[in-house]
Amino acid sequence: MNKEQVKVKCIGMDEEGKGIVKVKGKEFHVPNLIDGETAVVEISQKRNFVNAKVIRIEEKSKYRVAPKCQYFDKCGGCQLQHLSYEGQAEFKQNSVERLMKQYHKVNKILGMQEPYFYRNKVHSTVAYDGKGKIISGIYEENTHHVISIKECIIQDKRADEIVASILGIMKTYKMKPYDEDTGQGFLRHILVKTGFTSNQIMVVLVVSSQMFPGKNNFIKELLKKHPEITTIVMNINNRQTSAVLGNVEKVLYGKGYIEDTLCGCVFQISPKSFYQINPIQTEVLYNKAIDMAKLKGNEVVIDAYCGIGTISLIVSSKVKNVIGVELNKDAVKDAIKNAKRNKIKNVCFYNDDAGDFMVGLANKKQTVDTVFMDPPRSGSDEKFLSSLVRLAPKQVIYISCNPVTQERDLRYLTKHGYTVNEIQPVDMFPQTKHVESIILMTYCGSREG
Ligand code: SAH
Repeated sequence: MNKEQVKVKCIGMDEEGKGIVKVKGKEFHVPNLIDGETAVVEISQKRNFVNAKVIRIEEKSKYRVAPKCQYFDKCGGCQLQHLSYEGQAEFKQNSVERLMKQYHKVNKILGMQEPYFYRNKVHSTVAYDGKGKIISGIYEENTHHVISIKECIIQDKRADEIVASILGIMKTYKMKPYDEDTGQGFLRHILVKTGFTSNQIMVVLVVSSQMFPGKNNFIKELLKKHPEITTIVMNINNRQTSAVLGNVEKVLYGKGYIEDTLCGCVFQISPKSFYQINPIQTEVLYNKAIDMAKLKGNEVVIDAYCGIGTISLIVSSKVKNVIGVELNKDAVKDAIKNAKRNKIKNVCFYNDDAGDFMVGLANKKQTVDTVFMDPPRSGSDEKFLSSLVRLAPKQVIYISCNPVTQERDLRYLTKHGYTVNEIQPVDMFPQTKHVESIILMTYCGSREG
């Protein structure tokens, strides 16, 4: 292995939140280094693998703070904890501006007042540590090695306490964690979803087989310790896979779902369906997106990639009708129930690939006024975008958690008749590198076909 220590000045930051430095004309990306800082870094090379790490910071950035979390170095979940919240906001503002300023001026990011303990979904993997003790936490980056995490400063505190109790009860009942290599053992993961306004709590136990020895006592004990839990679901995942959830589910206690309120509508959330993980900022996001649309009341609206129908239902009182489309079957079922639960009649949900669905609408020459689209990190696809252009709604509001794919899709849409009118970053994931952004586009071309 080749190792060398050099003094460098950080000249920028990459999308991962790493500091960029240049050594002998070559660029390196260094974790825990902030733009403008001077530091001694160690560059090591083993075969083709190059690693750069900070040895000491010589000139600190005004944004540097001590990370609040003891697992910051190992976990990898929060890439920006060494930056003050002001510094994080600037980092996110810059990452959106770098990509988007070619289209329009970027509004100032909408940040969170209390940027901690916001996650309403907690996922913990259960395993043995090297000494035969049951632990739970997350996989160390790029490995199958579980790091024990007892508290997390971005997760709902109640979830950490429940996970700790489950580990204790496992010991009492001699329940074994699942071992990925041998396929032996029972409990694989614990998922806790909490309703921010409802205070309902769902615990999902992901297990390797239907046979749950001592089930009733296990549940009794868990509920005795945590009467705040409103439902417990067993999810059976007996495959050797990195996917967390399996297909078979059994409700062990309560209704099998929780509810939560967002922007005045109540939503049912089941173990598998997507639900925004930061409820406080989700309201900020949705309110801004809906505001941008300046709806008059007579519009036909599409909510593409609609999840459990959140945007559809929240916008429904402001428009003529809404069509929601979503690929995940469970989410669509929830969406339909949610419409009924809120007594909303002017929305319709379809379980389909958003691209295929849009092709169908374009072929029927359906009139659409406004499209809200909120695709996953991979962004949209050509099928969807080309049909969107054929439908030519007057306005498109594109919400994205990945500005890179959003920019790629924007390039297509701006080449095909759309102009960007507003860009609004929102901080949905404080302490992490992730940034959400909403883009308002209006149609200026002439309809095709
Ligand atoms: N708008 C919702 C969900 C956004 S997340 C909300 O704010 O809660 C993105 C959603 O897109 C997920 O629910 C995912 O299941 C769905 N999805 C992913 N690929 C899709 C596709 N090809 N067609 C339709 N929906 C898709």
